[in-house]
Parts: sequence; structure tokens; C-alpha cells
Amino acid sequence: MNRQQEHVLQTIHDRDVRYIRLWFTDVIGTLKSVAIAPAELEEAFAEGIGFDGSSIEGLARVVEADMLAHPDASTFQILPGKSEGGLVARLFCDISTRDGEPARSDPRAVLRRALERASSMGFGFYTHPEIEFYLFHPSSDPHAEFRPIDRAGYFDHSARSAAQDFRRVAVATLESMNIPVEFSHHESGPGQNEIDLRYTDALSMADNIMAFRTTIQEVAISQGVFASFMPKPLINHPGSGMHTHMSLFEGDRNVFYDPSGTYLLSATARKFMAGLLEHASAITAITNQHVNSYKRLWAGDEAPSYVCWGHNNRSALVRVPALRVGKPQSARIEYRAIDSAANPYLAFAVLLNAGLDGIERNLELPDEAIEDVAAMTRNERRALGILSLPGNLDEALAVMQESELVAHTLGEEAFSYFIRNKENEWEGYRHQVTPFERDRFLPVV
Ligand code: GLU
Ligand code: MG
Ligand code: MG
Repeated sequence: MNRQQEHVLQTIHDRDVRYIRLWFTDVIGTLKSVAIAPAELEEAFAEGIGFDGSSIEGLARVVEADMLAHPDASTFQILPGKSEGGLVARLFCDISTRDGEPARSDPRAVLRRALERASSMGFGFYTHPEIEFYLFHPSSDPHAEFRPIDRAGYFDHSARSAAQDFRRVAVATLESMNIPVEFSHHESGPGQNEIDLRYTDALSMADNIMAFRTTIQEVAISQGVFASFMPKPLINHPGSGMHTHMSLFEGDRNVFYDPSGTYLLSATARKFMAGLLEHASAITAITNQHVNSYKRLWAGDEAPSYVCWGHNNRSALVRVPALRVGKPQSARIEYRAIDSAANPYLAFAVLLNAGLDGIERNLELPDEAIEDVAAMTRNERRALGILSLPGNLDEALAVMQESELVAHTLGEEAFSYFIRNKENEWEGYRHQVTPFERDRFLPVV
């Protein structure tokens, strides 16, 4: 047992923690949890806890069902607000086969592999997401229209607003779980909110995002509302993105910063961006994994649908935020397609590998988009060489299927499982007859 594991066991003893939840994530991004008694944890550290991997989306085939969950002591966290009947703590787990080999399709393992590649090039990968979501009145009727809890808009501050109270409680709860929050505010849609998490290494951030989603849902329930990370829940209001800011560090030095570079960005940052643009269409099925995701990417409401970059241009897929001289640590780029329902481990892994590929292959960054690309005609965009992102899940899967970069990043098992799962989602969706069609065609055809 290592020092960190000993420290966890000591804390459990000192604080009288009664329940341990072991968390991990399936390939689609659903959080899984198994509870063990504190007395079992020592053995779990040493040998792992067995479970049937074939019952978890994408983790294992039926023939190799038996898997082990190994709690990662560095993720130990006592969960707030659960003291009735004793304190509850959680740890994220790495998954292995019975022989102790890391399970190749464990999303944490996928991200770890990408991070190892970055590390072999001398880089650490840091991210910071802006997580948008809606708050609705709960309803027991799944066919009823979602009813937002307010009619406020971007940055609105109203003296008595349920959303304001919600954010205050949510941020306090997140902070008490060691998930530091940088900003929180009302977003443009009614009932829409955004919470931005403070920069950290990508693996901790992916764990934090999984913890964030359940925490937000729990706080919502405690406040009598319902939180949704669905990418586009309302027809006439913006969708919920998870814009992700990224940078590479060499030790303490942000290698995206160069005081003499355009917009203070280094040549490495430009190549990283070029890699993102090169692979943007191929990684879209991962960053935007649901049929509903593509309703958000319709070229309006500040969600991107064209492959280009820009300085402070909110219609661009990759945006370079205004940086300040003398603030090298904050040099970063923002990827705007990714939505709040993505599996953060897989999404960060493909984003990172796309960027690293740009560095390795010395890809050249195309000219920046100065105008609002969504307002241009198709021909104007074509003349500038600006391609469209896939328009629906089926197109996104077709491009992903041809991508060696995505296949290699996910590994064969997760790659083929993901495609099969998403093809099923598309098949289920494509024969639906929507209210739009009934309204428009029933009376006339
Ligand atoms: N809600 C927008 C989206 O879907 C983003 C708005 C913003 O710029 O924060 O990406
Ligand atoms: Mg926002
Ligand atoms: Mg943003």
C-alpha cells in the first residue's frame, strides 16, 4: 500500500466514514457507482473489486466479462451533505481485466493513454470547461414541454431569483468537494445557467466534470427543480455547450504563450489549433455524441458549425480569447463545438491527440476567420475554404469511422463499440415522425 492509500484509510477511520462509493464511467459517459463498506477498501486498493464488465456500456464483451475496479486514492473525497447515517466518501476507479491489464475501453484509460503521449512529448495538458445547463420545473409527463424556471437572460441579476439561489448552493457544494469554480452566471436562455471550473490537469478535470453533473442534479432535486445537460432542449433558445479552454505546459511554463506571437500565441499553439481544425469533423461524434447535439450546432446562438478559428470570433469553432501581456499562464485556446453531454474523458483524449498531431506534423494554421462565418453564404465560405462540421450524428459517424486518429485514440474496442451504439441511436431516430412534420405536412399532403 502506498502513502496516499494509507492516508485515505486513516482519514476514513478518523472521520468515521461509513460508506465508500466507487465511481467509474462507461463509454457513453454515464457515471457508475458501487458502494462498499470501509473495511473492504484496503483489499480494494490491493486487488480491486470484481464486477461484471459486460453489463456496463462498452466496457467488455460478454466473453471477457469479469473486471476489476481499482480505486484511485488521489481522487478520495468526502461527499458533502450526506451525514445522516454516517459520512459518505467516493473514489474514482481505474478498470482492469482479471489479469491486471488496464481495460482498454475504460474512458479513464483512454484519456490516460493520450496524456502519456503528451507527456512523452514533454507536455502536460490542462483544461477548463464552461458548463452550460438548463433548470426546469420537474414534470412527471415525459411528453410535456420543458418549462424553464425563469425568463431571465445573459448575466441577468434579479433580486429574487431561484437560479441565483441555485448557483450559490451549487457553487458552495462544488467547492466543498474540492472542485474550484471560477465563474457562474445566468446564460442567454430562460432557466439556462453556466458554471466555469478552474483550470486543472485534464484527468482531474474529467473526473470533476462527472462529479459536477451528479452534484448539479442533486442540488436541483434538493431545490425542487430539474437540471438538464441535454445539448438542445428548447427549439427557440440556445443549446448548452461545454466550451473547453486548453493549454499545454512544460513543467510550469505555458507553451502556448509567446509575447512576440500573434495574439500572444506561440508557434506550438498555432500547430495545436491546426491539428484541431484538421481533425474537427472526425472528432465531432465524440464531442457531440447525441442526435440532439446537432440541433445545437445549427449555425446560430453562438454555437459553431463551421471549421475555422478566430480571435474573439464567437462564430468560430476555435476561438483565441483576448489574452493579456504578462499573463503567460492564461494563454489558451477555446474549442466551442463540444457540448454538455459529451463523455469528458473521451472528448479530452481526442481533442488532445488532434492538437498533438498538429504539432507532430507541423501543420500550418489557415487564415483566421474575421467575419461572422454563420452569416456568410455557402459560396462565400467555400471561397475561403471553410468546411462545415457534420450536420447530424450519421454524418459525424461516417467521418469518424474513417479516422485513424480517433480509432487509435479510443482503441479498437471502444471505437467499434461507440460506433455501433451510436448507429443504433441514429437508426432509432431516423424513422421518427416529428411534430414539425405533422404540423407542416398533415394538413396539405
Ligand atoms: N450556448 C452557446 C453554445 O451553445 C454558447 C454561448 C456562449 O458563448 O457562452 O455554445
Ligand atoms: Mg456560455
Ligand atoms: Mg466560451
